[in-house]
Amino acid sequence: MAEEESTLVVQDTVPVIEDVDGDKVPDKWIDLQFTWGGKPYSLSIAESDRVFDLKTSLRDLTTVPIDRQKILGLVKGKLPPDQARVADLKLVAGRKFSLIGTPEGDEIKDPSQLENLPDVVNDLDVDFTENMAASNRYQHDVRNIRKVKEMVAKLNLNIIHPLRPGKKLLVLDIDYTILDTKPLTSGSLPPDECARPYLHEFLEAVYPHYDICIWSQTSWIWLETKLVELGMVGANRNYHISFVLDKTSMFTVFTEREGKPWQHSVKALQIIWSYFPEFNASNTVHIDDLGRNFALNPKEGIKVTAFKGAHTPEARADTELVKLTQYLLHVANVPDFRTITHKDWRSVVKKLPRIEGP
Ligand SMILES: [Mg+2]
Repeated sequence: MAEEESTLVVQDTVPVIEDVDGDKVPDKWIDLQFTWGGKPYSLSIAESDRVFDLKTSLRDLTTVPIDRQKILGLVKGKLPPDQARVADLKLVAGRKFSLIGTPEGDEIKDPSQLENLPDVVNDLDVDFTENMAASNRYQHDVRNIRKVKEMVAKLNLNIIHPLRPGKKLLVLDIDYTILDTKPLTSGSLPPDECARPYLHEFLEAVYPHYDICIWSQTSWIWLETKLVELGMVGANRNYHISFVLDKTSMFTVFTEREGKPWQHSVKALQIIWSYFPEFNASNTVHIDDLGRNFALNPKEGIKVTAFKGAHTPEARADTELVKLTQYLLHVANVPDFRTITHKDWRSVVKKLPRIEGP
């Protein structure tokens, strides 16, 4: 019954209500702003409401079911349980927070999972850092050039942290590059055990030299969820993600593979370069586990092994990100990346003096 009374209060916008004794009791309302899926929303909540009512309002506004909601930045630390009173949260009007969660009916698989019919992925991959001739055909294909222009025109770019003048740009893939996606999306392992070892150390080490862009072949809502679950945004780190691109900035290219028609998606760095003229081939690197993503930019590509089986001892001992740290720091002061090739980055690292740590 208490729950029902509480719901009535939410629907009643009169700031004074009568209590059971007929006394007039003021009910203070608080205006809050939040973002979900990159869009701003606002809601009013009464101090007499419970946390449950707040979640219900969020569900009504976004269709994200209560059990899927992640509410960030509303209170310090963990949100109190459903029965807690809003008044006890000590909220201030105008407070901004973020909601993460997939809306009802949208719980179909993360599109990045559709391609994760494992190991097929790598069989179907072509490393364009090894095939410059094929890449040249792609780059000079009129359709592909037009596609890049179309993508720039409708670019859906989420800027999280301002760019810093004079930095290089690191374009970083998520799925199987820094994350074993499968156990994360199935919930079979906690997020930090799905992350590739040394993820945060890697980003902290390269951040003084590189602005960080995340580009993932998934939708923005999944992308945001992964970044938050991995603690790459919304957590206190010694690095920032500058901006994020999702699958809507990728397009399909058509070619042949072993004499048969083949099509796949690409991440065309020109899309970023058109948007941010300070970046170009002289100062951009792109790290991905799928070489085909480099098809239009093979010279900027650094291909890494796919990180899978996160729960296994082999995966726990993975040092790919340590090697990448060494490599990216080694080339950080090269004035023009066009004067070097990243293709043999592993052998470059092997010749470097070993650094402290793993
Ligand atoms: Mg990947």
